[in-house]
Amino acid sequence: MQVFKFGGASVKSAENIKNVVSIIEKYKDTELLVVVSAIGKTTDKLAQITSDYFKNQGDPLQLLEQLKNEHFELLDQLFTDRTASIYDDIANTFVEVEWILEEEAQDSFDYLFDQIVSIGELLSTKIIAAYAQNQGLPAIWVDARDYIFTDNTYQEAKVDWEKTEEKIRKDFPVILDDQIIITQGFIGSTSENFTTTLGREGSDYSAAIFAASLNAENITIWKDVPGVLNADPKWFDQTELIPELSYTDAIELTYYGATVIHPKTIKPLQNKKITLNVRSFINPSAPGTQIKTTNQTLPVPSFIFKVNQVFINIQPRDFSFIVEDNLSHIFNAFHNHRIKINMMHNSAISFSVSVDDTGENVLNLLEQLKQRYKVSVEKGLELITIRYYNQQTIDRVLVNKEIIRELKDSYTCQMLVKNKDE
Ligand code: ASP
Ligand code: MG
Repeated sequence: MQVFKFGGASVKSAENIKNVVSIIEKYKDTELLVVVSAIGKTTDKLAQITSDYFKNQGDPLQLLEQLKNEHFELLDQLFTDRTASIYDDIANTFVEVEWILEEEAQDSFDYLFDQIVSIGELLSTKIIAAYAQNQGLPAIWVDARDYIFTDNTYQEAKVDWEKTEEKIRKDFPVILDDQIIITQGFIGSTSENFTTTLGREGSDYSAAIFAASLNAENITIWKDVPGVLNADPKWFDQTELIPELSYTDAIELTYYGATVIHPKTIKPLQNKKITLNVRSFINPSAPGTQIKTTNQTLPVPSFIFKVNQVFINIQPRDFSFIVEDNLSHIFNAFHNHRIKINMMHNSAISFSVSVDDTGENVLNLLEQLKQRYKVSVEKGLELITIRYYNQQTIDRVLVNKEIIRELKDSYTCQMLVKNKDE
């Protein structure tokens, strides 16, 4: 059997949804499970709604109404019969959130986020399953929350693998015999049946969980790029497709910030030796990239660019050394504010890091650190990582840049830089 994953961009319009269903159709006689993300930017919009609701600002119900209209417009483009049950189904899914928004916010933000934002994937999969059925495909909608079991770390839930695998293995093979499962990425549920989410961009990870549990032959992530490239075309004009990639290189690249695949996705697949294909939904007959066990190293150096970095330098106030107890306090602060360190450097009297400038939680972190340490901050920087670097590749990215910090090991070079003219 195989697992397909389609992200938000692949289903962002009626035309795109038709394309996705036409790809599924080609595989209709094979055992297939399809994982889908929320449509377009739905997750961001639902996150905004949650935050407005929680902070008692703006008009979250109005924003929800807009999102509902967008989903209904899609339905009108996909279905001719306005009395089709999918219309009620979508309306009812929105009602669940309307009910939440009508009450005063009592629960924690993280909990509310998961209850509200999770409808994005419920909506998209309902629409796609209904459309596929309409096209005569033996598609069945499955609620991922009945299968992916997690703890209650809302927004970043940890999967209970044992329970999850057991349930998937018990139910899915029979269904897959003659039906195509369409289910949600990103969401799961606690043992008390509360909805959880697995972290932003987590649908890839969901697909990996299903694939690993079912010992799938392979999994395919369908993207708007031809496969894994040696750099994001957003930042680099001469990108090259990497036809074959080892699990280790893939893990390294995503660890340093390559956004093509969610970092948690690869390990469960590597454990089971399941090949991960990254292919283009725009050009579905092209082979794309295969991530698998191979001794091949990357054929070309790979570049990862992360803009909007904040460099934070931390020193003990009394100029004592940075030792283990300081460091554990500092790491805890980052963890508690959910801030991921992209680069770090430790010296006798200071500890410095680069993190994404995510606004509010970085400000909160800085406030906390300043209570105990001397903290200096520099914003607007860029972090460049090169895997399999050489001097030529370094020179190429440093044009007009000044290095603030540089870290190198045998394969990877990381440089935190700023523009020279600034
Ligand atoms: N829809 C979720 C998000 O935007 C999950 C995903 O797309 O992978 O984060
Ligand atoms: Mg995505």
